[in-house]
Amino acid sequence: MLTPESAGGTRPTGMPMITLEKAQQILLEQVSVGETITLKLRKAGQYRLAEAVYCDVDYPPFARSVMDGYAVKASDVAHVPVRLRVAGQVPAGLDSQLVLQSGEAIQINTGAPIPAGADAVVRVEITTLHSDGREVEIGESVPVGKFITERATYAHAGDLVIEAGAVLTPMNMAVAATAGAGEVRVYRKPSVAYLVTGDELVDVDAQPSGAQIRNSNEYLLASLLEAARVDAKSLGVVGDDPAELRKRMESGCAYDVLITTGGISMGAFDYVPRILEELGAELLVHKIAIKPGRPTIFARLPSGTLVFALPGNPMSALVGYELLVRPALSLMQGGDGQPMRLIQAVCEGELSAIRDRQTFIPAVVRVNSEGLWTVGLLSWFGSGDAVGAANANALIHRPAHAEAVKHGDKVSVMLLMHSMDV
Ligand code: AMP
Ligand code: MG
Repeated sequence: MLTPESAGGTRPTGMPMITLEKAQQILLEQVSVGETITLKLRKAGQYRLAEAVYCDVDYPPFARSVMDGYAVKASDVAHVPVRLRVAGQVPAGLDSQLVLQSGEAIQINTGAPIPAGADAVVRVEITTLHSDGREVEIGESVPVGKFITERATYAHAGDLVIEAGAVLTPMNMAVAATAGAGEVRVYRKPSVAYLVTGDELVDVDAQPSGAQIRNSNEYLLASLLEAARVDAKSLGVVGDDPAELRKRMESGCAYDVLITTGGISMGAFDYVPRILEELGAELLVHKIAIKPGRPTIFARLPSGTLVFALPGNPMSALVGYELLVRPALSLMQGGDGQPMRLIQAVCEGELSAIRDRQTFIPAVVRVNSEGLWTVGLLSWFGSGDAVGAANANALIHRPAHAEAVKHGDKVSVMLLMHSMDV
């Protein structure tokens, strides 16, 4: 019989299995924040800010109307109905020199500056024009200040409006634009190379024959890394050939991060751990008490490249990515590296008790008619079953030694933000 040693395959690295918490602590210690760059705001969407954004003007820069209607003196409309003389019109964008006198109203649009002399706005809906538009009847009284946003209500010039470390979300892009931040200092996206290994793999366009299967992990990783908006490069597929694998993994040294899938278990042809050692990598984690994903490796090459060697089964690779790779990519870009943001959801199925490894189960979260999160189970046959995990947008998290779950019990759920059908 071929043994791992006789086949020249892996040998145990001698590292003990550790808890997920310990692995994540090692990650926090090892991963440091990357370089910063300056980008035009237009190009900076979804980057993380390395420097806070300050507003360069008062916002709004002038007192403005919240409504379409008439600028008035509140004292003139204290008793209604009342007719006022229409003294002019101020559309948005016009720096009008009009001064409102007592007994007058000035037509005004949303966003237009409040004319001098006015102290309130009445909505057009409670007014009626008379005398060919020369007079307006006001139907309701308004207090001083009604429908006026005073200058600098939202921010004063010099105010901090977005903190360093925040992601330039769509709304933060709007805030940065408001603040005059035409250029922003952000964390550079890490460069990430990835490769998949296995003699059995054929590409999507090929018809698998005999002992072959299609290579799904390359597409999984490409898509995860696209959602992570990093600078990703596929190093392709490598067979279970140590020389070729070594060459390809060596080319990964030019990147900030190298991700591999497959070839890390105890099989005769699982060469990845041995090659990492040959390349002088410092093995930081090998084997975590999680299911799936136990053999996951985290290492550092002499080039400084962080290596995540994930198991070959698609769901194991996804779990390893979510628990280690995604947090690392976040830390490198100034994020907090928080691996699991768990929500509580009502389980619409039964789950058996858990043994000694924290367990992650693909599932579908929904919001029910009462607005509560529910989580539905899939017909899934384990970590090799990519088909059963179709439409999963979450992972149910079951702690080690957790008791069985009954229909209607609450469970902890990790949302897969990249898989939300929105
Ligand atoms: P390994 O981690 O190499 O022992 O592989 C574990 C399982 O994952 C095996 O059934 C492999 O055939 C499968 N596998 C490995 N790589 C891939 C891949 N790129 N796409 C789909 N399945 C894979
Ligand atoms: Mg393999």
